[in-house]
Amino acid sequence: MFDLIVKGGTLPDGAVADIGIRGDRIAAVGRLEAEAGRVIDATGDLVSPPFVDPHFHMDATLSYGTPRVNASGTLLEGIGLWGELKEIATVEDMVGRALDYCDWAASMGLLAIRSHVDTCDDRLLGVQALLEVREKVKDYIDLQLVAFPQDGLYRDPTARANTLRALDMGVDVVGGIPHFERTMQDGAESLRDLCEIAAERGLRVDIHCDETDDPLSRHIETLAYQTQRLGLQGRVAGSHLTSMHSMDNYYVSKLLPLIAEAGVAAIPNPLINITLQGRHDTFPKRRGLTRVKEMQAQGITVGWGQDCVLDPWYSLGTADMLDVAFMGLHVAQMTHPAEMKRCFDMVTQENAKIMGLEGYGLGVGDVASLVVLDAGNPVEALRLRPDRLCVVAKGRVIVERSRNDARMALPGRPGTVRRRHLPG
Ligand SMILES: [Zn+2]
Repeated sequence: MFDLIVKGGTLPDGAVADIGIRGDRIAAVGRLEAEAGRVIDATGDLVSPPFVDPHFHMDATLSYGTPRVNASGTLLEGIGLWGELKEIATVEDMVGRALDYCDWAASMGLLAIRSHVDTCDDRLLGVQALLEVREKVKDYIDLQLVAFPQDGLYRDPTARANTLRALDMGVDVVGGIPHFERTMQDGAESLRDLCEIAAERGLRVDIHCDETDDPLSRHIETLAYQTQRLGLQGRVAGSHLTSMHSMDNYYVSKLLPLIAEAGVAAIPNPLINITLQGRHDTFPKRRGLTRVKEMQAQGITVGWGQDCVLDPWYSLGTADMLDVAFMGLHVAQMTHPAEMKRCFDMVTQENAKIMGLEGYGLGVGDVASLVVLDAGNPVEALRLRPDRLCVVAKGRVIVERSRNDARMALPGRPGTVRRRHLPG
């Protein structure tokens, strides 16, 4: 007897299987004839572990236009604008926006999110707000928080003390922004400091690293070095890494093996970086996305992050990780079928690995969280970015929607259309 069986779905690896759930765990996978409290028919639909976003800013989300929009579209104006918003934001306001966003995320099967939270505020309002949100959503979303000194660990006079206070309050991960410090040297020093703090406290590290078009912004080299020196392999991620797009190829040929050896993961954020980077260029205009395929070829874990939805840096966004992967696929030119499938894996299992999620997957004993998509396989899911028909979080059905085929009134043509089309 199961509490729930999700029947007949196609798993991301192509296998067709029923998934039997007891309590908050997957109890059986295969052809199941047992009784169940409830059966969800997923025949012909894709059943995937939930989507995972390893890079987000939940303190800023859904604030677009407050107090004004980012006119230049640059990272730096966005940071300035966020400073203005911080002056007027309240805990209540941030909690409200974050919870609204979590509703969007849940509806899209996005059930694990790593959010940076700004620690450059002596009142730490964002930290208070997101700790409250982490607790409120814990039954359906795993929210992991990064202490993020947005204005620079050293450049902002109280950032270091406030970042340590945020970690004391229960923030999970150590963040930083070396390219925003006053000098390259301060940037490198901040990474030594932050990695030592993480090593002492047994925490993970996620750095906004080299989010610039400056090919000489080489903090990723220092991040890899400090990771190696302190034995933090597998616990460190470099987010963005956009300067690598513009770096000299000879230097990159030395750099990639160092990143791989240090076990540092990469989190490019394609929706944001294709928008923010290259703003100082005329033509040709650089794309500003880091070297995704080249890193993967060296065995470096790379996950796609969303970064922003309706905030000072980005005026769009849907909480759909398939939108993120779709943009990444295009900008990184990952068009081979195996590469497209990899893009789906990057917003599911590879992101889960970066966040260190326990019990993630569709195996027996894994946490019973999954999403049923109106698509036949992962590549079709990327093409269609389809409706999420059902979302199960920790054993509970939290979202359902009926299939929404278009009804047609064309003589001699079918009455409905779904746009499914699997090759072969
Ligand atoms: Zn970010």
